[in-house]
Amino acid sequence: MIDFDCNLAPYAAHSAKSRGRHFAEPAPGSRSEFQRDRDRIIHSTAFRRLEYKTQVFLNHEGDLFRTRLTHSIEVAQIGRTLARSLRLNEDLVEATALAHDLGHTPFGHVGQDVLNECMKDYGGFEHNLQSLRVVDHLEEHYGAFDGLNLTFETREGILKHCSLNNARLLGDLGQRFLDKTQPSLEAQLTNLADEIAYNNHDIDDGLRSGLLTMAQMEEVTLFARHRHAVEAQYPGLPGRRALYETIRLMITAMTADLVETSAALLRDAAPAGIDDVRAAPPLIRFSDQMRAETTALKRFLYANLYRHFKVNRMRVKASRIVRDLFDAFMTDPVLLPPDYQVASSDTLKQARKIADYIAGMTDRYAIREHKRIFSLDEL
Ligand code: MG
Repeated sequence: MIDFDCNLAPYAAHSAKSRGRHFAEPAPGSRSEFQRDRDRIIHSTAFRRLEYKTQVFLNHEGDLFRTRLTHSIEVAQIGRTLARSLRLNEDLVEATALAHDLGHTPFGHVGQDVLNECMKDYGGFEHNLQSLRVVDHLEEHYGAFDGLNLTFETREGILKHCSLNNARLLGDLGQRFLDKTQPSLEAQLTNLADEIAYNNHDIDDGLRSGLLTMAQMEEVTLFARHRHAVEAQYPGLPGRRALYETIRLMITAMTADLVETSAALLRDAAPAGIDDVRAAPPLIRFSDQMRAETTALKRFLYANLYRHFKVNRMRVKASRIVRDLFDAFMTDPVLLPPDYQVASSDTLKQARKIADYIAGMTDRYAIREHKRIFSLDEL
């Protein structure tokens, strides 16, 4: 048997000690348990849809903006670097990163907020929970079970947040939200790799779109400091290259800070294993200074990019599409593809099916479906 865990720290998630899968399966042999999880995620239908789902900009607004697919790959890449530096399980981080956005609705956060409002009398809608629902129930790939039958550790990493009401319904996996304990270090790390990825790529996409300007970005200390370092090293470097160099330095600074801070915390806490990690406070963290700077950056992006009037216009349009679709399907479930129609008059079940249907849509599919339902010129 190959020892996949031989380079890991004692507090890492060890493949050989996984808490296992819901349905027992033979060991994967030439792969670790978490490599198998990653492979199943990459082969899933929901993963391929990420290519046509977006976060800030819509899929058709430009070919160079991030999509959820390229974002997930960036999170996996940053996450693996961090994991290897801290002797944590790279395979688990990669699997978690590639799956973390599988439950996202079309049109980024607005899609999820509107769907949550639509579902308020039917149990609500949470995108983290939906990611779990995709890998536990909705994927149809295997003869023996629904979903992908992933390990406990990958599922734990996917479920970043969860309301207490829903946590109570989740058994094992929800327990940590009730007990207020931590997930594996790999889950904590993937969460922060996500943050490093989106903060940096939103600056890039924001500037590329023209909604943000370099001059405006000077307000952000974290950006300005690295921009000046680039100017000192390459005086007069033109626009795009200067921006890439600045972002490169920012990602390096954030990852270095995270590794250094977390390594010191791990040295002091010296957890003997993953159970100690779960009982301890969060051990993967930025330094206080970096945390303050990234918070300021996020605040800036919120005010100047996510709430830019052009983004607002798309947001309002997108929310109308999601709400219209939900209302139309609830009023007339016969409009739904047969797989999504519930035979009984169970409205709770029907609403959940509609949420699954809408959440699974890509941006362009939702726009097309809206036309098909509401426009007389479309079939
Ligand atoms: Mg993300």
